[in-house]
Formats: sequence, C-alpha cells, structure tokens
Amino acid sequence: MSINKEKYLKITEELKDKATLVAVSKTKPIAAILYDLGQRDFGENYVQELIGKQAYMAKDIHWHFIGHLQSNKVKYIAPFVHLIHGVDSFNLLKEINKQAALNNRTIDCLLQLFIAKEATKFGLDENEIKAIMQKADELKNVHIRGLMGMASLTDNEQIIKEEFKKLKTLYSTYSKEHPTFNIISTGMSSDYKIALTEGSNMVRIGSLLFGDRNYSRFP
Ligand SMILES: *Cc1c(COP(=O)(O)O)cnc(C)c1O
Repeated sequence: MSINKEKYLKITEELKDKATLVAVSKTKPIAAILYDLGQRDFGENYVQELIGKQAYMAKDIHWHFIGHLQSNKVKYIAPFVHLIHGVDSFNLLKEINKQAALNNRTIDCLLQLFIAKEATKFGLDENEIKAIMQKADELKNVHIRGLMGMASLTDNEQIIKEEFKKLKTLYSTYSKEHPTFNIISTGMSSDYKIALTEGSNMVRIGSLLFGDRNYSRFP
C-alpha cells in the first residue's frame, strides 16, 4: 500500500502545537510507515477491524474509536481503547462505564454534537448533551473529555465554518467549568484547515494520508 509520507510530514507540521492528529486507517492495512515516523494515534470506526489491528500492532499505540458504537460491542474494545469519539446516548455511556469498570480502568469519551445538515449523521443536540453532562458524574469509570463533530459534506466553506463555530461555542461553556474537558475533535481530510481556524485541537484524517477508501469489503 502507499502512504503519502510527504503529506504526513506536511500535516504534522501544520498541526504542531495546535492539534493532535488521529490517523484514520479504516479499511486500510495499518500503516507501519506512519508508526515508524512517530505516529501513535490511530482511529478506526469498525470494531472488528480495530480489534484485529490492535492485536498485532505495537502496544504503545493510542487507539481511537471514531465510528458509531453499538452498546453490545463496547466489551470488545473496553480493555484497550484510548478515546471513544462518537458517544451519542446516555445508555451507551452507561455501557462504556460498566465495561470500563470490569477492566479496572477509566475510559475517556467525547460526546458527539450533531452539527451537520445531513440527517444521516449521528449525534446529540445541545439539550441532550446538557442532560448527559448533568448525570455523567454518577459514572465513575468514564470521563467526558470534550466534544466531537462532523460538518456537512459540502464545498461551501461558510456552512462548514458555522457548524464548527457551533461546536466551539458549546465546547467553551463546558471547558470553562471542567478543566479536563479539553478536547474538541473535528476536522477531516476535506475540512481540517477550516477546523483548525475554528478551534479544533484534534483532527481525524484518513484519505489524505492513506488514499481513497474502497468500501466494497465493508457493508
Ligand atoms: C472516515 C472518517 C474520518 C476520516 O475521513 P477522511 O475524509 O478520509 O479524512 C474522520 N472521522 C470519522 C468519524 C470518519 O468516519
């Protein structure tokens, strides 16, 4: 497989001191080349693929789960997952808490705010996030570290900007109250530059690094 090494180095330079790069390796064999260049944060959005890769890759990798997580699959990733990005219900959070406790650990999570125009995307609205934040202290084995969002798939930069701004505004209200609420995960290959100007401090980049995906193997 081909890895765009120049692009990787350019992106890490752009992100320096601003944002953590999560290299999204979904549907791709893991990029040992990126690991050798120092990359330690990798993101996956299929549970099977994540556990398959985790089993044979270096143990100092931080594995991010960035997809839509089903409650019945939490147990498979609970022993090792570093950060779960797309939490979109209190029930899911409760299950993560339960599985984290069974593994004697605390799992960091982000709540996904729905910011896009597309109804197909997952996520919570502001009131639902508020309700979860009020109850989250009951759950001793999960730690809500911030927010995640996905902007609309559009060429209209203004729309994307406004969606990211919405995320940043909500993020700011909670980050003021909670010092460890300090992650804002937003920005992908097509819009990470905009995300950086709108306050993102964690970007999830796939196709720019790994080339276009072929989904045919993945239902
Ligand atoms: C696939 C994916 C990405 C990366 O997308 P690219 O456009 O390939 O950079 C980021 N975030 C999520 C949630 C994804 O599913």
